Amino acid sequence: AKERGKGRYAVYDAELEQHHALDAQLGAELRQALDAGGFSLVYQPIVHAPDGEWASLETLVRWHHPERGTIPPDTFIRIAERTGLIVPLGDWIMRTACRQAADWLDRFGDAAPPAVAVNVSARQLREPGFAVDVAQALHAAGLAPDRLTVEVTETAVFEGGSTLDTLHALADLGVGIALDDFGTGHSSLGLLRTCPAQTLKLDKSFVDSICGGSQESVIAAALIQITDGLHLDAVAEGVETAEQAAALRRLGYRYLQGYLFARPMTPDLVEARLHAGHRQ
Ligand code: C2E
Ligand code: CA
Ligand code: CA
Ligand code: CA
Repeated sequence: AKERGKGRYAVYDAELEQHHALDAQLGAELRQALDAGGFSLVYQPIVHAPDGEWASLETLVRWHHPERGTIPPDTFIRIAERTGLIVPLGDWIMRTACRQAADWLDRFGDAAPPAVAVNVSARQLREPGFAVDVAQALHAAGLAPDRLTVEVTETAVFEGGSTLDTLHALADLGVGIALDDFGTGHSSLGLLRTCPAQTLKLDKSFVDSICGGSQESVIAAALIQITDGLHLDAVAEGVETAEQAAALRRLGYRYLQGYLFARPMTPDLVEARLHAGHRQ
């Protein structure tokens, strides 16, 4: 630490500046991509723990950059939030997912995935009229509201303000609310009293160390008591091994999601699985 010379700060500053420059450039490119159809959606099943049937499909956005290849959402959602572009991008995601879900219900009937879940960021929830936009997306697609769940993080809900009103407006429409990454943000059990969520998604970081009486397994077990008592659904995300799935089933998790069951899939791949008639 004593060695922190001028040189080191200079290097650090240069790196930081490069970051900002890249962010600014990506921000501009995001806007172009939205006009040019540079985004697509992939879908990952949330399965019913006892039989592996698909309960729902979570929508995950992908950006196909002409030179940089596919850029992960963890990188660009942050930039889209800061620039406000998440609002039009999120609207495109919502409309596309609703249309896709309605199309699958038309074509596959009872074999179709019963519902879709769409990730919604804090910035979108704060946008006035967001609930009306969702109602319009559902209407335009001809999708019943109970076929849609929005996934929001605890942190987004914790911000308060108009966010809770928006969530109540969505719940009044009949749209499901899931608290994503549960246990990682500003976790507050008080949130469960004020937020109209029906579903908690236990974060992957708990699932990673679920085996063998770990602290995480104790918390995961306590969460099931809470969700059972409050008549909420519990989903465990990021399930990668059969051992994790077994431990989560033993704890009483009724819904599981992760690479063990399926990776996020293009619509073509989802349809191939539906045609093959096996949903797990
Ligand atoms: P998330 O909502 O928590 O989504 C789960 C992430 O974990 C996804 O990464 C998914 O591909 C990945 N995943 C699923 N199962 C496993 C597993 O078994 N192992 C591992 N290692 N990973 C697994 P992805 O698609 O890269 O998305 C990252 C994050 O970006 C999402 O986290 C979400 O916060 C955000 N995001 C993605 N799509 C959207 C979107 O359409 N709108 C918004 N606002 N955010 C999005
Ligand atoms: Ca999610
Ligand atoms: Ca999550
Ligand atoms: Ca996450």
